Amino acid sequence: MTTRAYNFSPGPAALPDAVLERAKAEFLDYQGQGLSVMEMSHRSKAFVDIAERAEADLRTLLGVDDDYHVLFLQGGASMQFAMVPINLGGQGTADYVHTGSWGSKAIEEARRVTRVHVAASSAERFAHIPHASTWRPSPDACFCHITSNETIGGVQFHDFPRTEAPLVADMSSDFLSRPIDVKRFGLIYAGAQKNVGPAGLCVVVARKDLCGRAPSGTPRILDYAVHAAHDSMFNTPPTYTWYLAGLVFEWLRRLGGVAAIAAVNRRKAAKLYAAIDASNFYSSPVARQDRSLMNVPFTLADPALDTDFLAGAHERRLLHLKGHRSVGGMRASLYNAVSEQAVDELIDYMQVFEKEQA
Ligand code: PMP
Repeated sequence: MTTRAYNFSPGPAALPDAVLERAKAEFLDYQGQGLSVMEMSHRSKAFVDIAERAEADLRTLLGVDDDYHVLFLQGGASMQFAMVPINLGGQGTADYVHTGSWGSKAIEEARRVTRVHVAASSAERFAHIPHASTWRPSPDACFCHITSNETIGGVQFHDFPRTEAPLVADMSSDFLSRPIDVKRFGLIYAGAQKNVGPAGLCVVVARKDLCGRAPSGTPRILDYAVHAAHDSMFNTPPTYTWYLAGLVFEWLRRLGGVAAIAAVNRRKAAKLYAAIDASNFYSSPVARQDRSLMNVPFTLADPALDTDFLAGAHERRLLHLKGHRSVGGMRASLYNAVSEQAVDELIDYMQVFEKEQA
């Protein structure tokens, strides 16, 4: 009997049971080394093997070829809000498509280091993705930044526009949830604590020709080229998180890769949105065509019932359903490690709760 709850946390988020079991089995003694992965030097052969395997598996999962660096960095996705404009900003303008709270933070940070132009925005309610035909790029754009999935607002790009300037995407909350054509992007970054592993790591996939352009005087730790030249070991990397990320990549490969998990993710989200749409009690604030498959915000007909809803959910071990403090209501995060059964349990609870209110 599992004692594990149904975890809908937006991040740090659910990890696959199989990964945690494997880490547990190897916790004290990693493959006969007589020590834990977190106790070994990042320069040791055992760890370098772990690191290289993780990178190779990630490249296979996403189809990342040799034109791109894959970097395992610290500082979270928030550090990328700064590193992207520092490294790619050049002499021109940095274009941003503003679709929610994480986009706001990326823009705020970029404004500190470079000239920013908001090429499109859904800022009135952040409930949709502005159609690419309405974007107004700068003539001298050095890159165009999007947030592929807004974790708080629950809006997601379901296809990616072609942009003249290199497309840069914050994929923190939908990385590895579906196949993507990496070649469409100049740079992708993703904080680990949703679909990759525990917090402490940010994966960056960067086209090689875009690295090495940081202005002179840039601190070395903020320069992509420096990290690439040191195989992401310019300083001590978060070794244990990197190892766990590797286990997650292996788990995903065994499941059949991102195409296989994408099919499951589509089913999970479709069920939950169908339940919301079929009810007069729950509603989704997001335009249908742009709804996120990863983060599903929804509201109850009467916000005064929110506390009771959450208490009842907690009793059924359905955890972390409270919406972000900036928007209220509920939010169910359905990352790769959230099972279809968890979604079924949630829907069942929602229907029972609704009936109780009648
Ligand atoms: N971007 C997105 C889309 C996020 O969801 C988050 C975190 N939830 C961040 C950026 C910031 O990530 P971090 O806390 O790792 O800096």
